[in-house]
Amino acid sequence: MVRMLSKSKKLFDDAKRVIPSGVNSPVRYFEPYPFFVKRSSGSTIWDADGKKLTDFCNGYGALLLGHGRKEIISSVSKQLKLGTLYCAPTENETKLSKHIVKNYPSIDKVRLVNTGSEATMTAIRLARGYTKKNKIIKFEGCYHGAHDSVLVKAGSGSAHNGISVSEGGLKEVSKQTLVAQYNNPEDIEGIIKKNNDIAGVIVEPILANMGLILPEKNFLMHVRKITRQNSIPLIFDEVVTGFRVSIGGAQKYFGIKPDITTMAKALSNGFGIAAVGGRKQIMDQLSPKGNVYQASTFAGNPVAVSAALASIRTLEKLQNKLYSKLEKHCVRFSGALDDLATDLHIPHQINFASSMMQIFFSDRPVTNYETSLNADAKKFHKMFHTLLKHGVFIAPSQFEVVFFSDTHTSSDLNKALDAYRLALKAVKD
Ligand SMILES: *Cc1c(COP(=O)(O)O)cnc(C)c1O
Repeated sequence: MVRMLSKSKKLFDDAKRVIPSGVNSPVRYFEPYPFFVKRSSGSTIWDADGKKLTDFCNGYGALLLGHGRKEIISSVSKQLKLGTLYCAPTENETKLSKHIVKNYPSIDKVRLVNTGSEATMTAIRLARGYTKKNKIIKFEGCYHGAHDSVLVKAGSGSAHNGISVSEGGLKEVSKQTLVAQYNNPEDIEGIIKKNNDIAGVIVEPILANMGLILPEKNFLMHVRKITRQNSIPLIFDEVVTGFRVSIGGAQKYFGIKPDITTMAKALSNGFGIAAVGGRKQIMDQLSPKGNVYQASTFAGNPVAVSAALASIRTLEKLQNKLYSKLEKHCVRFSGALDDLATDLHIPHQINFASSMMQIFFSDRPVTNYETSLNADAKKFHKMFHTLLKHGVFIAPSQFEVVFFSDTHTSSDLNKALDAYRLALKAVKD
């Protein structure tokens, strides 16, 4: 019998010749080689070999409404006919900003950018410009993008690849970043007491880049209180949670108002757009009227803006129905997975919230960077591959999250649970 070499393998070997490691973002790589994608629709991805995968990676949370959502495709198609880039303002940018402001009471003004990294970079610069101070505090395991200020004890691909501070990053910059332990209010309080040069505190209100880690009761409230008492701007990095955990993000979910907010992934359901917003006094620091510089050729790109507008309008229409359905799916799924692992006597932890969840192979509750790193990532890798073999695609790292979308059907979830049963058995053997 002649065995055909997989098409993905061939495409990967070819890609490696011209793309470093064959991928355009490190989290996409996994051993022995990633599958290449042909197309996607709803909850499904088809790979280059024609294999059908149920998608639980969902663009790292971006695809809340699923692949190729008709409301969004139709809005984007209309825009494509009107033009793709003007580099002059459009009414749609104001409309989109109004939708964001309406759903996020902490935001008076918002500037549109292209990526989450750009949004957090701008948020941090704004905090520095506003306070005229230098240092920022971030939390261990939180991921805020791939720039020097925040690539310190970061989660996501940075944790996956064991990089604490990236080579090539300036020590002068990362030195200005102080790191506190997540879910430990005394730690951040101590750092603030010892320093009078803190320009801002940045936090993922739900930590979705170290697996999933939930803020413990009163943690965020405490962080809000001490930052307010010390007049330090609090930045909620809602790049994952914005529009995902509720239409008003984690700040609505928990009832806490930050001073600056960043959002990106679920903002447009799969297009390159992000936003940074906040109180008027802070946002008005931005150039050209203010002295904090921020600029981008593609910012407010009409195609991405039309996608974001259609996405938010759809969310506004669905609102409670959508979020409560996803939450119900997530609770049921997490419970069933817990039963499977318990029946197999596999030490495990499952963290879940809203439409996100993750399993850790550990006998200790996972509440911060250290306890997440302590979980057995080798077992996770084995689970990932067995899931993939059985047609279920989750992000290929312990430090990412399983995301549910509006398009997952009960049958998708049951199929995934069947695959998880086999994957857990493989982990056990
Ligand atoms: C993904 C992510 C970012 C970076 O966004 P990019 O669009 O990948 O630059 C920032 N913060 C958080 C919380 C993220 O999950």
